[in-house]
Order: sequence, then C-alpha cells, then structure tokens
Amino acid sequence: MLSLLCLRRSAPCILHESQRGAFRARTADHSRARFFARGEGAYLWDVDGRRYIDYVGSWGPAILGHAHAETVQAVQEAARDGLSFGAPTEAEIEMAETLCRLMPSLEMVRLVSSGTEATMTALRLARGFTGRPKIVKFEGCYHGHGDSLLVKAGSGALTFGQPSSAGVPQSIAGETWVLSYNDLDQVAAAFREHPDEIAGIIVEPVAGNMNLIAPRSGFLQGLRDLCDRYGAVLIFDEVMTGFRLHLRGAQGLYGVQPDLTTLGKVIGGGMPVGAFGGRRDIMEKIAPLGPVYQAGTLSGNPVAVAAGLATLKAIQAPQFYAHLSERTRALVEGLSAAAAKHGVAFSAQSIGGMFGIYFAATPPDSFASVMASNKDSFNRFFHRMLDAGIYFAPSAFEAGFVSAAHSTADIEATIGVADQALAQLSRQDLTR
Ligand SMILES: *Cc1c(COP(=O)(O)O)cnc(C)c1O
Repeated sequence: MLSLLCLRRSAPCILHESQRGAFRARTADHSRARFFARGEGAYLWDVDGRRYIDYVGSWGPAILGHAHAETVQAVQEAARDGLSFGAPTEAEIEMAETLCRLMPSLEMVRLVSSGTEATMTALRLARGFTGRPKIVKFEGCYHGHGDSLLVKAGSGALTFGQPSSAGVPQSIAGETWVLSYNDLDQVAAAFREHPDEIAGIIVEPVAGNMNLIAPRSGFLQGLRDLCDRYGAVLIFDEVMTGFRLHLRGAQGLYGVQPDLTTLGKVIGGGMPVGAFGGRRDIMEKIAPLGPVYQAGTLSGNPVAVAAGLATLKAIQAPQFYAHLSERTRALVEGLSAAAAKHGVAFSAQSIGGMFGIYFAATPPDSFASVMASNKDSFNRFFHRMLDAGIYFAPSAFEAGFVSAAHSTADIEATIGVADQALAQLSRQDLTR
C-alpha cells in the first residue's frame, strides 16, 4: 500500500516531463508539480485544498471542464454493464460513425487506447501501404513515444535523425528525417533527393507541443501537394488539435485533407481513447482486412468510449466552438493588453480553444524561434500565477487550453492576476 502511494505521488513529475521531448526534460522544474485531489469545471483543487483556475485541462482532453456531469454519468452507467468484453460493442460503432461523420477525410477508423498507439500504427500503415521505409517529421512536434518518433534532427537538414531518448537504437531513428516546421523548401528537397523512399509525413497541423505554433499560410497545402506528387501518405496528427480548434479539426479549419488522421485526448473526454483513420484504400491494409498488424486488448473499451461519446455529443452543440474561441481570444487579448501596459516583451495567440503565450515580441513560427523566447520571464510569470491560483502549463514549450466551463469571470480573474504579475516582472526587469 505504501509503495503504491509513493508511486502515485511521484507519477506526475515523471509523466508530464518525460512524456514530452528531450528539450522539455532539460527545462523541467520538478518543484512545479502540484498534486491534485479534485477537479470540477474550470477548477482544480490541490491536496491542500487550494483552488486553481486550470488552463492545462489534463493536457487537452478536458474541453468540457473537469468532471463534466453527463460524461461522468455515461461512464458510471457503462461501468455498471461491464468494464471490458474483448469483443465489439455498439457504442464502439457509434463512436467510429461519429468520428467519420464529423471528419469527412475519415472513411474508415480504428479505435485504440492512446495517441501514441494511433501515431505508431499510422506510421506502420504508411510504410505498409507504400512499401517505403522513411518517415518525415518536424522538429518540436510531439507524436507520442513510439521509437520512430523519439527522434531529433541530425546535424544537417537531410542527415538521418538521432534518437532523442535513451533506448532508441540509431538504426530506428535513422529511418526518420526531422525537418523544420513551416519550411516547405526542406520538404521539397527531401522528396527531390529521395523520391522513392519517403512513406509519409507526420505533422501536427497546428503545433501544440512546442508552445502553440501556427502553420504558415500554404504550409499544409504544400505538404498535401508534395505527398500527392511523390505518392507519400500525409498524416495529420490531430491528437491535440482534433475537436479542440474546430468541429472538423485543424483539417476542417484550414481546408486541407490528410490521407490519415490520428486522434486522442478530446475524443476520450478524459478516458483513454485514441483513434486513427482515413482513406479507405489505405485503411484496408490494416489487419484483418490487410497485412499491417494492429490490435489492442482494451481498444474500444466500453467505459472509455462512453466518456468519448458523451464528450463528442456535447461539442456538437450549436455555437460550441464560436463560444470557446471567443473565450480563448478574450484571454489572450487581455494578457497581451496587460503586458503592453507594463512594457513587457510578450505576445499571445489563440486558435479555437487552444492558446500560446510567449515572452517574445511576436508569436514564434518555428522550433528555433520558440527556443529563443525568454524562458526566465516565463518561469517567473508562471510561478506568480501559480501562487495566485492560476494553473498554466509549467513550461514555455506547452500550449494552453480553455474549456467550455471557463466563465467570463474566470477569464477576467486570470487577466487581473496576470496584470499584477506582469507589473512585478517589468519592475524587476527595470531594477536588474
Ligand atoms: C498528446 C499527443 C500525443 C500522444 O498521445 P498520448 O495519448 O499521450 O499517447 C501524440 N500526438 C500529439 C500531437 C499529442 O499532443
């Protein structure tokens, strides 16, 4: 019992830091970990009973806020009927049909239990479909912890990738090329030099794992065109952006159709659900129809699917995304105005229910530019906000999330606290 308790207590530090990229592990500050006892709506309470307005939202899933009543009820009802059968359920079909209806690029879909499983399988499928070995990813994008994706750029743009985690062999990392986000010329060059080797490109259509980085105009369409020209599979990793930005995902917002899409986070409503899907001719290569193996004991788990369905139902309410986007925009506009008032070099932007705050004069558009933002200012700001009961992601390299449960009063309270924190920051900078 005691060892179990210790394990659970230390879990957040291990999970939230090591889950996300080597550069983040280097900047991790373990004193930031809070142990939460309870969540409701926009709020979390820590084990000492202190309340926080939460902008992490379980790293994305909590789009309806914590302990959303209909979702919790759906979970309770499903649990009463049995936790897992290892056989198909009707709810699983309903979930698949809902996803295909909401995202028209999904002609077939398979449920899994995490975003990592979805991306891992999407890569295997792209390779199995094309018969080619190489994958292109972009620096600073996170796609879960499959070995082929724990890879950072080599010394030159087109050198083989290097493992970004111990335990990943060079032979596996070398099959992935890591290019710069928003740099279409690099992708074009990779295809020109290796026209028959690239199985697919995996990309976060809005990058949310190096703070929020928006795609430059034409970047996603450019990837689409190159994949068409060279017969490679375009994978949009919408584990974070799916149903977070727009009812049709980032692909709906930007009007670019990928061949495969990976999903997670929001579609599980706080329970473990992932999915991948896309073009029928590609999806039919998945076992049992095709030769590409994939299976999971708890895939389509009825309790998890119940939470996902309840969440997907709620987000289809009229004006859901209009309200969410407006609330999120109000937050970033208020923060930017406060920073401007106090002369702090700061910028912020939002897309749907997702936002980025940067201690930099303009929002960055690449991994290199986000790395150049002022991490020291971010750290001081973060701790002031945390001490005043506002929980932002504990790193300058994470996006933030607003939920439907955040009220105008919550946003205003947050801006009020930020105003004081930024004033202090600017005074400190003047006296340095
Ligand atoms: C969170 C995330 C993943 C990994 O999902 P897990 O459920 O943590 O395995 C993959 N891709 C993106 C874009 C993510 O944000």
